[in-house]
Formats: sequence, C-alpha cells, structure tokens
Amino acid sequence: MREDYDIIVIGAGPAAGVFTAMADSSLSILKIDGSREGGKPCGGLLAPQTVKALKDIGLTVPEEVRVSPEVRYIRTMDIGTGRERDYPRNYVNVDRERFDRWLNTLHGENTYELKGSAFEISEKNGLYYVKARLGCGNEVTFTARYVIGADGAGGITRRYLYKDDTIKRFVALQEWYRLNEKDSGFACVFHTPTSPSCSWIFTKEDRIAFGGAFEGKGSKEAFSEQKRILTERYGYDFSEKLSYEGCQVMRPFRKKDIRAGENGIFLIGEAAGLISPVTFEGISFAVRSGAALAKAFTKADIRETYENAVEPLREEIMRKKKRWPFMYRRFLRNLVLMSGYGAVRK
Ligand SMILES: Cc1cc2nc3c(=O)[nH]c(=O)nc-3n(C[C@H](O)[C@H](O)[C@H](O)COP(=O)(O)OP(=O)(O)OC[C@H]3O[C@@H](n4cnc5c(N)ncnc54)[C@H](O)[C@@H]3O)c2cc1C
Repeated sequence: MREDYDIIVIGAGPAAGVFTAMADSSLSILKIDGSREGGKPCGGLLAPQTVKALKDIGLTVPEEVRVSPEVRYIRTMDIGTGRERDYPRNYVNVDRERFDRWLNTLHGENTYELKGSAFEISEKNGLYYVKARLGCGNEVTFTARYVIGADGAGGITRRYLYKDDTIKRFVALQEWYRLNEKDSGFACVFHTPTSPSCSWIFTKEDRIAFGGAFEGKGSKEAFSEQKRILTERYGYDFSEKLSYEGCQVMRPFRKKDIRAGENGIFLIGEAAGLISPVTFEGISFAVRSGAALAKAFTKADIRETYENAVEPLREEIMRKKKRWPFMYRRFLRNLVLMSGYGAVRK
C-alpha cells in the first residue's frame, strides 16, 4: 500500500462518495473511513432537492437502495400539547447504509479505500500527515498535499482546523424496533420540556425507529421520557428493540458556522456545517458540496472556487433558519398547528 497521495479524504458518507465519484481521474486519492461502529442515526429520507442534486450530477437512486413504505405525509406531533397535523411530503425512503455504500463505489481506480480511523493531522512544509489506526490495530502515517474533511459532525478535521469553533451541536440518539404494522408511518415529534430540538419516528420495511436530537447533558433521560409518552399516551409499540445508534449533529445558526476550509484542507458535507438547522436535512448539501469541491480541483484556485460554491449553500441555510421560530417556539408552533396551514385536511 502506498503512503503518499494527492488527496486524503477522511470519511465515506455521501459527501465523500460524491467527491470521489466526480474527482479528476489524474488525482491519487486515499479514502479512510471506519471510525463509526454500527449505523448512523439518520432518517434516510431524500428530499426533492437531494434527488435533484443527484440528478444534476447524473445519478439516480437505484432500486436496491430504496425501501418501503413510500413517504406521502409526515405527521407533526407536539406531545406536550397533544396537537398534531399531517403535512404532505414527497421524500424517497432509502436504507442509509446501502445509500452510502452505493455512492462510495462510484469512484475510479485512482481512489484507494481503507478501513480505519484517522486520529491526528499535522502539517509540515505544505505537506499534510494523517495518522490512522487500521482495523488490525496498526498505526500508519499517510501524506498528501490536500486533506478533505468529509468526516461529519464529530470528525477530527474541523476540530484540527478551527480551534475557535463554536457551532451548536446536539447529541442524536436513535433506537430501532421490530415494526408493529399499526405504527407504520413518519412523524416529527416536539416536546419542549425535554428538548429544544426535535425527534422523529420513521419506518423502513419491517423496522421502526424512534430518535431525537438532544442537549448533551441529560440526553438519555430526555430520550426515555419522550419514548415513555409515545408508548403510554400514543400507543406506539417499541417493545422489541433491535439496535441503538448515537452521534453528534450540528445546528448552524450563523454564517460563520459554515466553513469551507483553509490552506490545503477543505471541508464538505456536515463537517463544513452544511445541514438544515431546522429539519436536519443534510444529504442534499453533502452531495452538492462534494460535487462542488471535485469541480474546484479542476481550477487553478481551488480554495476560491470552492468558497464561491459554498456561499449560495450558506445563504440557503440562513434562509431555512428563518423557519426556526415557527417550529421551535412553542407559542408560534401551536399557532401553526392550530391554523392547519399547509396540512392535510381530515
Ligand atoms: C438523527 C439524524 C437524522 C437525519 N436524517 C436525515 C434525513 O432523513 N435526510 C437527510 O437528508 N439528512 C438527514 N440527516 C443529516 C445527514 O445524516 C447528514 O447531513 C449527512 O450524513 C452528512 O453526510 P456527510 O457525508 O457529510 O457525513 P456522514 O454521513 O456523517 O459521514 C461521515 C463519515 O466519516 C466517518 N468518520 C468520522 N470520523 C472519522 C475518522 N476520524 N476517521 C475515519 N472516518 C471517520 C464516519 O464513520 C462516517 O462514515 C440526519 C442527521 C441526523 C443526526
């Protein structure tokens, strides 16, 4: 295995998959991934803008990545007040692991994939050194002219670059259970006493997941309390637990929370802070930023070209933020739910 490359990509989520699929074939790329055990907490719902972003780069979600049931509407539930409404939505339901695997097989022979966890980045004379612990336990140092942080909300690249980073992070906790057919569907759950953020319920084939984004302190208790209300008051059957997942999730609220990178290090996807602060939809941003950076590598000034491509994404996220009070301020949320504006009439 060679140890020097043009580019080292840390992570193999959708952002890394799209970057390596679109990168110029003359670039030698090492992709290191594997810090996470088990799945990533994610709804695995592709919004219309994600499907469009994929289409714009010539990709269509394959049938084997899609799962049932289809999403026709999402129920918004305030389990504090008992108010709820169904809102029509047109998302593609996918198996997140299969989706990531698909995107990460689209690269050419110029990309070498390695299972391992990168744990240290350093720089000397314009060359980057990335230390990684491989699956067998060995530690190896790789070098490259560029490092791409595609390592999500909890990755090391953003932390290495921006010691002053103050982006808001939540802890996402999620459990999977055997589906009881009566519970099949999709819901966005609010409960202000236990979380300033939101939770979700979604189904995939014969499984149902309940998860939420919580403040780090007391997150497990908050998760348990919401689960208790959903089972006791709403009759959800979460009795047969299959698995548990956890990760960090970012909530960009200021333009400076979204950062493209410096010198020879670039950030794509959630590592850059590219995620909706309102719905936590992030795959469309991962796709668009991965594609934009691959294109920037064909230009003379990579940094400037990529920064120019990130700016409209930053603006889009700031526009999405304007919806925040209507979903997260209890008073306004209740007005919206009471009005029934945009909801399915029952
Ligand atoms: C609970 C929850 C639900 C969500 N639901 C949706 C949804 O339904 N639809 C949607 O569009 N978005 C959703 N999102 C957002 C979406 O999951 C992210 O925006 C998206 O995964 C970001 O992709 P990425 O490629 O940037 O990073 P990730 O998908 O986070 O991938 C990062 C990769 O880097 C790897 N990694 C991290 N650190 C290291 C390291 N040190 N060394 C090696 N590898 C490393 C990880 O193992 C991982 O494979 C959700 C997020 C959360 C938290």
